[in-house]
Amino acid sequence: MNKFEAMGVDPQIVRGLVDLGYENPMPVQELSIPILLKENRDLLALAQTGTGKTAAFGIPVLQKVDTSKKISQALILSPTRELCMQIAGDLSDYSKYKKGLNVLAVYGGASIDTQIRGLKRGAHVVVATPGRMLDLIRRKQTDFSHIETVVLDEADEMLNMGFRDELDAILAETPKEKRTCLFSATMPREISGMAAKYMNNPEEITVGTKNSGAENVTHVYYMVSNKDRYKALKRIADMNPNINGIVFCRTRKNTQEVADLLIQDGYSADALHGDLSQAQRDYVMQKFRRKNLRMLVATDVAARGIDVSDLTHIINYELPDDPETYIHRSGRTGRAGKQGISVALVGSKRRHSIRHIEAKLGKKFERAAIPTGKQVCERQLFHLVDRVDNVEVNEELIGEYLPAVFKKLEDLDRESIIKHFVSLEFNRFLEYYESAGDIIAPDENIRNKKGRDRSHPSREGDIRLFINLGKMDKLTVPGLIGLINDATRRKDIPIGKIDLLKNFSFFEVSETHVDLLLKSFKRVHYKGRKVNIEISDKAPATVQRSHRRSGGGRPSRGGGRRSR
Ligand code: AMP
Repeated sequence: MNKFEAMGVDPQIVRGLVDLGYENPMPVQELSIPILLKENRDLLALAQTGTGKTAAFGIPVLQKVDTSKKISQALILSPTRELCMQIAGDLSDYSKYKKGLNVLAVYGGASIDTQIRGLKRGAHVVVATPGRMLDLIRRKQTDFSHIETVVLDEADEMLNMGFRDELDAILAETPKEKRTCLFSATMPREISGMAAKYMNNPEEITVGTKNSGAENVTHVYYMVSNKDRYKALKRIADMNPNINGIVFCRTRKNTQEVADLLIQDGYSADALHGDLSQAQRDYVMQKFRRKNLRMLVATDVAARGIDVSDLTHIINYELPDDPETYIHRSGRTGRAGKQGISVALVGSKRRHSIRHIEAKLGKKFERAAIPTGKQVCERQLFHLVDRVDNVEVNEELIGEYLPAVFKKLEDLDRESIIKHFVSLEFNRFLEYYESAGDIIAPDENIRNKKGRDRSHPSREGDIRLFINLGKMDKLTVPGLIGLINDATRRKDIPIGKIDLLKNFSFFEVSETHVDLLLKSFKRVHYKGRKVNIEISDKAPATVQRSHRRSGGGRPSRGGGRRSR
């Protein structure tokens, strides 16, 4: 016997669940379904988003509906339009084999007349946002005299969004002897107060740890300075070619800006925030749900309750002020037994927020370094190669075109063909990352590492090095690069800006190569002179013209103009 059936769920509803692939109840369903089917008590459930709570209250609500009566029997209130539509859709799916059962979604931004007609036809289950529900009550378009169950879903969010008065007014319309179920991801004092006010000796259930994030979510943070924040986001996206996630920003303006930048840079992204019309929001959500959009850039309010399964990442582009909001955000991934990653991009001023969140989560964050360009390129290259390797070749369809294709490529040997195909897709990454430099965390600059100030590089992330050879030594740019290649025995170290001066010179390399260069030049001689390389602590614009030549001197700290 199916496990839901063993719990007392009607076969018609079990059929609907089986169609959705629900074979075993999730913990919140195991706890709440028997209570709601067999007992007549109120229910106070502490459950995170993504734990299966919709079915936990939805299945019993649907089972109890008497379809012979054309009147509303259950009211479910949820904070946002998106969640409201989602719950209504889920309930319709669960009950598709229960003939004559009507579920109606009632929310702002859609035709009120259609919703009034739905109510008049006697919707058995009404799923509503508080604002529109109250509007309809005030227009006297509802008959809630036969409501048996009221569910307050994401009750903490409804309070956060300022719906307290609406909830009071709506609940006053429902019969006193109804059953009330309250689902909340967190249990702040206001929720306990609400439970005391609206509920009668409720049965309490908790799924997972109180106030903790979903178990399957790994929390990772990157330290970044503000100027690198967007670049870091791109690297995270590039390191995860199969990313399917939500990028959270704090304001509508930032949300739109980040989405615009991503779109401009060729990413599959779009924005979701309150400045968009309902039609635009619906369109974006539809694309995201259908996986035609890899990154949804959203504000907290707009993304409330969104249930898109299989999200790989939640990216906190900006951390929220409140740890609870972080918990809500990260709970959008790691659902239904899947693994998820919640990433935070943290500026040095917000580092303490990580500790606060850890305390609330009861879980530690891992600190990670922003991937280097080389790491990203490698990841992308192997992703591309895997795609080529795994692509399904439909001989029948492609067959007729192949002779012409073979003819066109007949001058290329196997190796060249592979190179061409790979370059076609991969050049964009190589070109961008070739000159992108590394992104260095604000607390990891060279001052900490070497006990000195960092130079002022012209290529972001690069370190400026001093070398005690100049034009007087007949040093040229190719000569300097040759010297570096010989000393390091490598040919692949990207050299940034080179300033050849009379008696000495400067060149720039990424921070990751500095140690290697310093070490490699320890015993190098050039035209009989010992070569000395050091980290320069002066910006190019303040290098002294009169810097004296010496066996191992560093550029002076004094002022003066550059010599070129
Ligand atoms: P919810 O917390 O209701 O938003 O559900 C989270 C996700 O779990 C949704 O994608 C549901 O479709 C899925 N889900 C809920 N119950 C089950 C179940 N018993 N078996 C498999 N998936 C489920």
